[in-house]
Amino acid sequence: MLRLSTYARLITVETEKAPQFIDITEEVERAVAEAGLTEGIALIYSRHTTAAIRINENEPLLLHDMAEFLERLAPRDCAYSHNDFSIRTVNMTEDECPNGHAHCQHLLLGASEAVPIIGGRLQLGRWQRIFLVELDRPRTREVLVQIIGE
Ligand code: ZN
Repeated sequence: MLRLSTYARLITVETEKAPQFIDITEEVERAVAEAGLTEGIALIYSRHTTAAIRINENEPLLLHDMAEFLERLAPRDCAYSHNDFSIRTVNMTEDECPNGHAHCQHLLLGASEAVPIIGGRLQLGRWQRIFLVELDRPRTREVLVQIIGE
């Protein structure tokens, strides 16, 4: 009989720039070890609309290529209505920054990845690493790792 249990761990990340690809694979592996589950799924989830979670290769030149790719898709200096504080009234905070580009880039990347756990280990492929992708500016970011399994 399947006896499901769950485990959750919040990972806090201080980012330094945008875009920035921060490899959080080891933190996620630590959470999997702490959870002590052998078969299941790890959900890696960003609690933000301008910081994404993605699996890709950690190769410095590729990270540079992907940063430029994001910039081409949604350039920082394009016109975004979200950045026009003379007309915007919704969700305005005291330290509001123009970040329409970061939201649009996040739309393409997404907030989460799910990775299978078999034999107590994340089933990442040889070149697969888990990244928090900062798209806005240096911030404190929260990544929730929830593990479900037995
Ligand atoms: Zn915004």
